[in-house]
Amino acid sequence: MIQTALDIQTIRKDFPILNRKVNGNPLVYLDNAATSQTPQQVIDVIVDYYSSYNANIHRGVHALSQEATDAYENARHKIQTHFNIAKPQEVILSSGTTHSINLVANGFSSLLKKGDEVLVSAMEHHSNIVPWQMLCERTGAVLKVIPMSLEGELLMDEYRALLSPRTKLVFCNHVSNALGTINPIQEIIDEAHKVGAAVVIDGAQAAPHIKADMQQLDVDFYTVSAHKLCGPTGVGMLYGKEEWLTKLPPYQGGGEMIAEVTFEKTTYADLPHKFEAGTPNICGGIAFGAALDYLNAIGMESIAQYEHELLTYATQQLLNIEGLKIYGTAKEKTSVISFNIEGIHPYDIGTILDKLGIAVRTGHHCAQPVMDFFGIPGTVRASFSFYNTKEEVDLLVKAVERARSMLL
Ligand SMILES: *Cc1c(COP(=O)(O)O)cnc(C)c1O
Repeated sequence: MIQTALDIQTIRKDFPILNRKVNGNPLVYLDNAATSQTPQQVIDVIVDYYSSYNANIHRGVHALSQEATDAYENARHKIQTHFNIAKPQEVILSSGTTHSINLVANGFSSLLKKGDEVLVSAMEHHSNIVPWQMLCERTGAVLKVIPMSLEGELLMDEYRALLSPRTKLVFCNHVSNALGTINPIQEIIDEAHKVGAAVVIDGAQAAPHIKADMQQLDVDFYTVSAHKLCGPTGVGMLYGKEEWLTKLPPYQGGGEMIAEVTFEKTTYADLPHKFEAGTPNICGGIAFGAALDYLNAIGMESIAQYEHELLTYATQQLLNIEGLKIYGTAKEKTSVISFNIEGIHPYDIGTILDKLGIAVRTGHHCAQPVMDFFGIPGTVRASFSFYNTKEEVDLLVKAVERARSMLL
């Protein structure tokens, strides 16, 4: 039974998109791990920005520019508070997780040398593999992989065995977008620090479900994309410890990131502006702050608890379907279910579900190494958010059963 304290029907009214139909059926949106939907409260903030105070920030003396600057810096403050970050200059506003990770990987080019080692977990998103491969190619450092079990859990003994004084960087996602596994990042961070390695955690998939505490984790870098937590696309956070952000060279050159420019030499602006070249996504940043307000008003713990109830219920119901196999059965999981039905290509199931108005993802979920590990081309992935209902889970299960009988 689902016994949430949340009033889901009232929450659903905040999301205008949930009223629409797809192929003649009410939309059942179960692709939340790819992007979340946007509540009216956040849409209003976006409309208000462009209707009443759209201006460039940090430079203007006029009223609109100051209003926009104040709202943008206020959003930075909300992000700082949400993630319990010690100092505002440790919050870099980026275009999202991919940008944040590239910024760090690029910065480490000047800090790594031949023979150094970089550890990456086996369940990474492509955005978390390619930049480190490029970094290793540039520097001669060696990329090593932390393996996982068939349940989709990292093998922590193997991780400890891989760590050595040569390890300079460790990268891992907090939650796997392909499997839903919640990784033991506190242990990963603590063990890496024992050998003096820096740790970058990709929090893109965790942030909608878990309020990570930067000071408690003592993590060196942590990344988030606003569009996965009810905010707009094209904006996100890079948290970095001040000592690391000071050490890293700037990523992109341009306006906003400089203190003084002559043709002989440029000096860089103080943090966070050193890493915020050019005009940022001002409206997006402000809306990111509004999205955090929205989630906090509901309560991250209530959200996580309800989503866990949905996960448990959906897992039980789906497993009743003959031939259905779930990939990623870690003990600690967020509300992501990756599955296949024996003898059916995931794409075919996804197509039939779409005809019925149900949005799921099919394919490799930007995590091809994970699919290779299981020896499959891809999966069907249903991912649930706090605005989904038990009735929607029932519709999914019925639709998958129907797809199975049509395709087998
Ligand atoms: C979505 C996601 C990313 C990529 O985020 P972008 O917003 O596309 O940059 C990276 N890692 C994980 C685990 C994700 O879920």
